[in-house]
Amino acid sequence: MRLDKFLAHAGFGTRKEVKELVRKGRVEVNGQRVKKDDQKIDERQDQIQVDGRIVTYETEVYIMLNKPQGVVSATEDSRYETVLDCLETNRSDLFPVGRLDIDTEGLLLITNDGALAHDLLSPKKHVDKTYEVHLERPWDPQYEAAIQTGIRISDEEVCLPAALRQTAEHVILLTIQEGKFHQVKRMMHACDNEVVYLKRLTMGPLKLDAALQPGQWRNCTPQEIEALK
Ligand code: URA
Repeated sequence: MRLDKFLAHAGFGTRKEVKELVRKGRVEVNGQRVKKDDQKIDERQDQIQVDGRIVTYETEVYIMLNKPQGVVSATEDSRYETVLDCLETNRSDLFPVGRLDIDTEGLLLITNDGALAHDLLSPKKHVDKTYEVHLERPWDPQYEAAIQTGIRISDEEVCLPAALRQTAEHVILLTIQEGKFHQVKRMMHACDNEVVYLKRLTMGPLKLDAALQPGQWRNCTPQEIEALK
């Protein structure tokens, strides 16, 4: 990998800023001051230092975020804070796996593993996602069969079968296999109801850590990463 790319991904700023660090003689590879920012390095073996401090860099990153309301599931946005702002990282290679609406809370995986993201989001893979859904009106069980067989949400769109469990008068747990635009909200609208609060609890084998408050995150454990792959 090129040194400038490595340092940019590790959070030392843009390529231009990294170039400046190198120019000022603040970067060393294996104890040698670096002269060229496009120098090739082996990120698994070489020791990279900036200002004498070793730069640790995990090549693959898997972060579980409890997304708070009010932030967008994007890497940058001109109006709102993004889920990457919650991490307070300068790493430039991370992105959220899929999207939750701005007013949705809960489990969001953030990674730099494009292949895994592609797999988890592939419509062919039917990765289950469970949501806690709070409704404006009491859940009406007459819609249960339609949800379970596949409910129509527009002239062109019928959902795949979904699973449902009512946990309180106004609350259901809904497991869907797809990720259509505003899917849960539109499914509830088709059931003559409206979502007032939505939280994702699971994505495939990954379960939201109940200890994470909205806005908090942690690295996935090796077991969680293994289960995802
Ligand atoms: N369904 C929705 O309607 N919104 C989300 O954020 C996720 C699923």
